Amino acid sequence: DAPSAVTVLDERTAPERLRETSTLIFDCDGVLWRGSEIINNAPEALKEFRRQGKRLLFVTNNSSKSRAGYVSKFSSLGLEVAAEEIVSSSYCAAAYLTSQGFGPGGTRGARGKVLLLGWSGVEQELEQAGIPYVGGRALKVPAMDDLDAMKALEVDPEVGAVVVGWDPNFSYSRLVYASIHLRELPGCLLVATNMDCADHIGGGRMMPGTGGLVKAVETASGVSAVNVAKGGEWLLPYLCRTYGLDPSRTAIVGDRMDTDIHLGRQGGLFTCLPLTGVTTLKRLQALPASEHPDVVVRSVAQLAGLPV
Ligand code: PLP
Ligand code: CA
Repeated sequence: DAPSAVTVLDERTAPERLRETSTLIFDCDGVLWRGSEIINNAPEALKEFRRQGKRLLFVTNNSSKSRAGYVSKFSSLGLEVAAEEIVSSSYCAAAYLTSQGFGPGGTRGARGKVLLLGWSGVEQELEQAGIPYVGGRALKVPAMDDLDAMKALEVDPEVGAVVVGWDPNFSYSRLVYASIHLRELPGCLLVATNMDCADHIGGGRMMPGTGGLVKAVETASGVSAVNVAKGGEWLLPYLCRTYGLDPSRTAIVGDRMDTDIHLGRQGGLFTCLPLTGVTTLKRLQALPASEHPDVVVRSVAQLAGLPV
């Protein structure tokens, strides 16, 4: 396939196919906000879609916050959203573990604990789901600067899964600790909150995403991770089951090809890419036409027929 031109809809022209759409799945960063800044007319766009009677879901790969944490973030940016409409990757990790027999009434027995390399978002979702965990922000592993220290490190035999999320305190010691659990406990699962390679932090700078941390654990342990977020295979069937989605009447609005547009294409959803995030027009134009999103718009406001 040769690269081909990409058509960006004219300003204030909403795509026809949205009329038949009953559910809109919104990615968050790069669509509704950038870091802590709201994108122009995003609150008005969401209001307009609600007025039209559409169901809205908000699906973010960012695991640093729980659903409750996101309700506060949405609200601080002037977006009124219910917790049940938010599917954060922190929540997905807990939902996936529940589906695998972790938590109350589950089948994991003496191997029902999670070892978490992650932050408060995942901690809160595990607590909410009643899944016991060790680690998280409080994970203290002695410095792994000599072989004796590594040999003395004890494996917790109750751990049935290692979860890796965004972890600003990720270190060689944590990598050792996670990988010995995966290597020494048969059947121990490795769960990734997402595999994003890098995320925008504004000012033209990218910060390393959780994908790099997961790859380190995969490489060190020899175990492949299950990605429970956009970009993986688990999420779309889960969303369809849980929310009763009809893929032919569902759209996804996201700024990233390997996560948002990938998810849409898995299920034949209507795929919309606003140019307010990580994907530039130039990058899109370098792709074969068969890989393009169904529609490229200037911003989420345009999808609602509002000024961009
Ligand atoms: N993970 C982290 C740590 C992030 O900071 C971001 C975006 O800022 C993401 C993931 C991607 O989030 P989203 O799926 O909302 O674009
Ligand atoms: Ca995004």
